[in-house]
Amino acid sequence: MCAVMILISAAYVSGFSGSTVQNILSENSLNVNSSAKDGELTIVLDPGHGGADGGAVGIGGVLEKELNLDIALMLRDMLVFSGYNVVMTRSDDSMYYDENIKLSKKAQDTRRRVDITRDYENCIFVSIHMNKFSSEKYSGLQVYYSDNVEGGKELAQSIQSLAGELLQKDNKRQIKKADSTIYVLDKAVVRAVLVECGFLSNAEETAKLCDKEYRRDIATLIFMAIDSFVLTGYSENTADK
Ligand SMILES: [Zn+2]
Repeated sequence: MCAVMILISAAYVSGFSGSTVQNILSENSLNVNSSAKDGELTIVLDPGHGGADGGAVGIGGVLEKELNLDIALMLRDMLVFSGYNVVMTRSDDSMYYDENIKLSKKAQDTRRRVDITRDYENCIFVSIHMNKFSSEKYSGLQVYYSDNVEGGKELAQSIQSLAGELLQKDNKRQIKKADSTIYVLDKAVVRAVLVECGFLSNAEETAKLCDKEYRRDIATLIFMAIDSFVLTGYSENTADK
């Protein structure tokens, strides 16, 4: 992990955006390593929506599901490059369900995302989404967490703080405990956060989110937050499954 920590530190020092360091990271085409041994930490990355479920539609028509996936794939590569075990709830434009089950496709797909984490006794769940609101004026990354398992709040704070320091100096948003409207956090059985990366109802932020370099910055700061959360110590899952 050390080499990457140095690279990431260099990215921080060099002004963060569009740095060579990030290009080095992204040029490494890496496969998901899901062969976690018993008790070994696994990061489950969850790009929100997919397939028939496009998620929010942004100004100009961009689909949330595409932005979520792109950020999650870049984040995956950074984590795998650093030696983490990573599992994706989806790695392409798909929605997973069984035609023979009566439950709606969306509900099945959402439940599956939580169920994946049950296979890993030491796990962190990170869901990637975009926000949307009826008023165009709101912007800024915001992180939600589940308090079902200790540690989610600390990871959420780590991501929120880095977003303020590195990407959005004016972002005064606070982390929020999820309520029952966010299924993947409400039902979480592991440490779990959901990152609303920005508002697709805000023209300026949507334009940024449509820029690959900006999305890479978001992936990088989430990576840094996860890495620092892990390196500074954390408790393993204690939830009853
Ligand atoms: Zn969403």
